[in-house]
Amino acid sequence: MNVRLPRLLYAGLLALVAGLFVVTFLLNRNQYEASISSVESSFNAALDQQAKILRDEIAQQEENWFAHHQTTTELDADLFIVMRNSVVPSCIAGLLATVPAQEADKAFKQGIATLPNPDALPFFEQAAKRVVETPDDLYRKISAYFNMLELDNKVQTVCCILTLLDLSNVSLPESQTAFFNTLLEEQVPDLGIIKARTSSLWKTARRIDQKLKRQKGAYRAVIDGQTLSVNENGLALLYSPDIQATPPILVTNAVPEGLHEEIVPGWMAYIPGAVIAESKQKIRKQYRTGNAILALMIVLGGLLGGGIAITSKRQRELNAMKTEFIATVSHELRTPLSLIRLHAESLCHERIPPEKIGQYHRTILTETERLSGIVNNVLDFSRMERNKLQIHLESTDLSVLCEHILDSFHFRLEQDGFALERQIAPGIVTHADPLAFSQIVFNLLDNAIKYSDEEKRIRIELERSAGQIILRISDWGIGIPDKLKKRIFDDFVRSDDSKVTARRGSGIGLSVARRLAGEMGGAIEVADNQPKGSVFTATVKGNDEAAGG
Ligand code: ADP
Repeated sequence: MNVRLPRLLYAGLLALVAGLFVVTFLLNRNQYEASISSVESSFNAALDQQAKILRDEIAQQEENWFAHHQTTTELDADLFIVMRNSVVPSCIAGLLATVPAQEADKAFKQGIATLPNPDALPFFEQAAKRVVETPDDLYRKISAYFNMLELDNKVQTVCCILTLLDLSNVSLPESQTAFFNTLLEEQVPDLGIIKARTSSLWKTARRIDQKLKRQKGAYRAVIDGQTLSVNENGLALLYSPDIQATPPILVTNAVPEGLHEEIVPGWMAYIPGAVIAESKQKIRKQYRTGNAILALMIVLGGLLGGGIAITSKRQRELNAMKTEFIATVSHELRTPLSLIRLHAESLCHERIPPEKIGQYHRTILTETERLSGIVNNVLDFSRMERNKLQIHLESTDLSVLCEHILDSFHFRLEQDGFALERQIAPGIVTHADPLAFSQIVFNLLDNAIKYSDEEKRIRIELERSAGQIILRISDWGIGIPDKLKKRIFDDFVRSDDSKVTARRGSGIGLSVARRLAGEMGGAIEVADNQPKGSVFTATVKGNDEAAGG
């Protein structure tokens, strides 16, 4: 029950946090959609506004141009007029006015046959207004215009002649058409330009005409990006508003009062698509950034949660290890203590054969050494845990110290049948903590003995090299698997191998040794021995001053 409750609590908390994130994601999404639609509506409002301005502008143009046409007819005005049920450019609309045939005849007679004469102008004008019904009428009318060419505005007159030649319902015989064309080419230098202009005016007129056939009364439409306005009197205006770019965006279908609109000018209101896209892009970016931050928070939250879970698991494991450690250490202490007690009691109470007395003393001594080794490890470890470990560096002869420790191991090695190879360079003096160094040697040697197998052989070397003191202890024992090599210097780490677990140990010997070596400016590492076993190499900072001593 105790275990289940926090688990349920964790699960509940997890669900709550996950729910909060989901809600936040949804809120972010809602905010995004609202922002996007607000951008669209604000741009639509702007477009409506633009459409209104455009419509006002067109209305103004219509007013000006239609009023203007009451007083004058200009060639350049894009103004058309509906006459006899068809649309013609307003500048040549006057051609179709009717005049008495007599006047035309007079003009013809005085005209093409005679030389230009300013007094003849009114006659020519009258003749030009004559309704053309037969090829003869047309011939006379064109002839009258040719006379006017010398006297009147050339461009307008040429337009009239061209119109009559090309577009009239009545056709001249080919010879007469050729005759007039030759005359035109002789007399009009800019004929090409005027021809083009006239034919484009007529083309537009025909298109407007087609539209008008489908419409009744005044209306407004769009032709090729220009607005076409037609008033009640059949006057048509083509106007090009200043459209910034295509494609414009249709934003409104509101039909304004007055003219009937076939296609509303709102069609022309324009906001570059890129501006809208940019604003939307910005909102999208904010949305994504929001999501990314949320995702990051989830990851961080997950890591934090995971970290806490791992830490608490590690804490539990450490607690379990410590409990086991206490049990192991107690057990380890008990064995040498019992041996010491047993042998001491025997020495006190029993009659021991004299040859055995020495052996009893040696056992007591060996076990006392082991006891103090274990106790020192525990004390050092405890001090290290509390950051209370203090190293006292003093000039120390490590060679002597080493020999001394080996002597204290002598009986144990001898008893267990070990062959010990010593290669201890004499007179290695440096600044070191003798107790710490002894503890390192003790721990490494103790392990070498403990983890040896059939081949009971140990080599110990001490030398100075490249400013460092090197202590190397090699055994031909059970060896250490590669993946364990990195971890054996950590607290409480022991191999699961039955060969290891069968031997006594608390898992702190190497960790203490490594930290002590570190305190003395050195380190410890392990490598495989050949053909089997392990080689532990501990270094201690060499002190040059003491090197000679
Ligand atoms: P322990 O009290 O277990 O000996 P140590 O910290 O001294 O603790 O050693 C940690 C582990 O490293 C040991 O349990 C063993 O698995 C391995 N080990 C240490 N020294 C040797 C060695 N000379 N040969 C093989 N394994 C060793």
